[in-house]
Amino acid sequence: MIPLDPGARRAILEAVAALEGDAVERLAGLVRHDSTLGREAGALEAMAAEYAALGLSPRRVPTDPAALAGHPGFSPPLVSYAGRDNVAAVHAPREARGRSLALQGHVDVVPEGAADLWETPPYEPSVRGGRMYGRGAGDMKAGIVSYLTAFRALRMAGLQPAAAVQMQAVVEEECTGNGALATMLALPRTDAVVIPEPGPGMAAIYSAEVGVVWAWITVTGRPVHVRDMHAGVNAIEAAMAVAGRFKDYENERNRAENIHPAFRGVNHPVNVNLGTVEGGEWNSSVPTRARVGLRVGVMLGYTAARTRADIERIVAEAAAEPALRGTRVAVEFRGFMADPCAFDMEADICRLARRAYAEASGGALRDYPATGLTDGRFFALYQSTPVACFGPEAAEIHGIDESVSLESMHSITRSIALLMAEWCGVERAA
Ligand SMILES: [Zn+2]
Repeated sequence: MIPLDPGARRAILEAVAALEGDAVERLAGLVRHDSTLGREAGALEAMAAEYAALGLSPRRVPTDPAALAGHPGFSPPLVSYAGRDNVAAVHAPREARGRSLALQGHVDVVPEGAADLWETPPYEPSVRGGRMYGRGAGDMKAGIVSYLTAFRALRMAGLQPAAAVQMQAVVEEECTGNGALATMLALPRTDAVVIPEPGPGMAAIYSAEVGVVWAWITVTGRPVHVRDMHAGVNAIEAAMAVAGRFKDYENERNRAENIHPAFRGVNHPVNVNLGTVEGGEWNSSVPTRARVGLRVGVMLGYTAARTRADIERIVAEAAAEPALRGTRVAVEFRGFMADPCAFDMEADICRLARRAYAEASGGALRDYPATGLTDGRFFALYQSTPVACFGPEAAEIHGIDESVSLESMHSITRSIALLMAEWCGVERAA
């Protein structure tokens, strides 16, 4: 670590303070983009403009499933990647003296759910009680604004990192991770990665995360007129019966002996979610086909491949039941095929993150074993690059009325600015 002189430290923190209003505006600008799956183009364009505004040259990084298919971190895609290229930019120092760093964040957001349940519309950012409300405000557009503002603050203080700093804005963190994988592979490996993902109800640093497998189960029933319904098999009822079997599986995977020590004390860390149901044609016809979509968690110490085999076995057992005789049951895997991962909390970058956060906020980052996942696994599992995944305090992540604490965002900005200055060292701004 290169010690930062007190004058530079003060100048950086003053610059972050002067940029607080600007940061809130930039966050509102990003939240206004509905960047759900397949609709990320506007947010990606905005990120390219943000990088250009920092004096960097944004470049597009395509996600090419054919090129990634052999990689162990690849997940089968859900939709085409055309028109949704990731965006990256690299700061090059005049003289590289410090350690290089990647600042990574995903622009995609999960669906807003029933928009009428939101107090204010999900893509119309609203500030109430020191929090910004909107889909993606917490997960993770505030974190993205934090790293952008941290870099801008160094510049305002007349400084810049004395090492290469990559910025990566990626798609599909919420369903495959393929955007992160493609971007990681397209750029040189760095000495560390910072991903400012939010902490749930607290400022947190991710210590571990589960894996996730997405499965789609399609049941084709035996269609008949409802007056003869006992002669047929109702595809929706059959699909629900297959999905119901996963409750036992979920219970088994959460038994104490199956829980990795990193997740001790976490209530029910392995979750199976019945996320989507489609099917049926007409209220007076026995439905011929139904499809359910499942998200199945993978405990640390287990693998996505074993989970996939478990799913195939459970579906085959369900299909063999007498009640499903005459139906066709098919399972396919599209979306997450993601392994779990532990982060090295003793890595220099994590120690520095905790120290910088303590100085910037007066508080402490809590270690957080996450029951969801991040793009951090790619760097940790496939590149052995230390990852510090920490970000602002957010509430109702993936829920209704998602929000982020603006003071917490500013704290994370100060933390990243100090971390970047110490990790990379600083030189006079170009
Ligand atoms: Zn996220």
